[in-house]
Amino acid sequence: MSDIIATPKVTREILDRYGLKAQKKYGQNFLIDANIVTKIASQSSDKEHLTLEIGPGIGSLTQMLARYAKEVVAYEIDPKLIPLLKDNFKDVSNIHIIHEDFMDVDFKKAFYANKQINVCANLPYYVTTPILFKLFESNLDILKITVMVQKEVADRFKAKVKDSDYNALSLIVNYLYDVKTVMQVPSSVFYPRPKVDSTVISFIPKRQRDFNYEKAFFALVKRAFAKRRKTLYNNLKDYYSKDKLAYLYESLALPETVRAEELDDVAFKKIYEVLK
Ligand code: SAM
Repeated sequence: MSDIIATPKVTREILDRYGLKAQKKYGQNFLIDANIVTKIASQSSDKEHLTLEIGPGIGSLTQMLARYAKEVVAYEIDPKLIPLLKDNFKDVSNIHIIHEDFMDVDFKKAFYANKQINVCANLPYYVTTPILFKLFESNLDILKITVMVQKEVADRFKAKVKDSDYNALSLIVNYLYDVKTVMQVPSSVFYPRPKVDSTVISFIPKRQRDFNYEKAFFALVKRAFAKRRKTLYNNLKDYYSKDKLAYLYESLALPETVRAEELDDVAFKKIYEVLK
């Protein structure tokens, strides 16, 4: 397929030719704007590395990713889209289409398991957070994750201390990644048109992973945020002795009334070091 897929006309033609409609249950909203697709592909991928795509749909983004990446591996859950994708890309040797639910993929068996990779997706909204957490918790060697998500979801990941949507998730993600807004995207660039606007965000790893350390550290963070209205002290008191907490508050000069949402990842690292 040499025509640009991400246009209203070609998208309609492809869906008609295969007698398909966008499936709500799979969160299908196809990109129909060539400029947006080109920007996402150019910012997410490079010719040295493989790009992993989740949910290629009819291939709008996949087609452009293949021009900017060394190779593209794309996982699609919808069986009806597989013949269409294979036909569209039969002459493009650097695209590999895999029919699999991304949530079931076993990375240990993947041929890219030991390679540095980029990840790019226009994510299905019903499974955005589980897909991102599967990537965050994997030990894939990821250079950059670039994803289109609903604007509200992006705001939560970008939330900083004291913002109303700052929570354990924002803290953990900001501890692991530099989270950046790539661009805001209006709902008019999708077919069918969703009710909300979207944002493209990127996650760039900040540090070497240490899964044992993270497990213990994130457990503390989740405890500290467990009950939002409670103070940090009340959230932690079932897990640590009075003496230990007294020592913590004294050594870090924490106010008695402090709540988890007033503390950033640097403060939490200190708390973790004292309590461990
Ligand atoms: N990438 C295409 C585009 O930008 O036009 C389609 C994006 S659409 C928002 C999401 C795609 O993810 C759909 O093709 C849908 O079938 C697919 N999908 C949904 N759940 C999935 C899953 N668990 N694993 C793999 N693909 C999934």
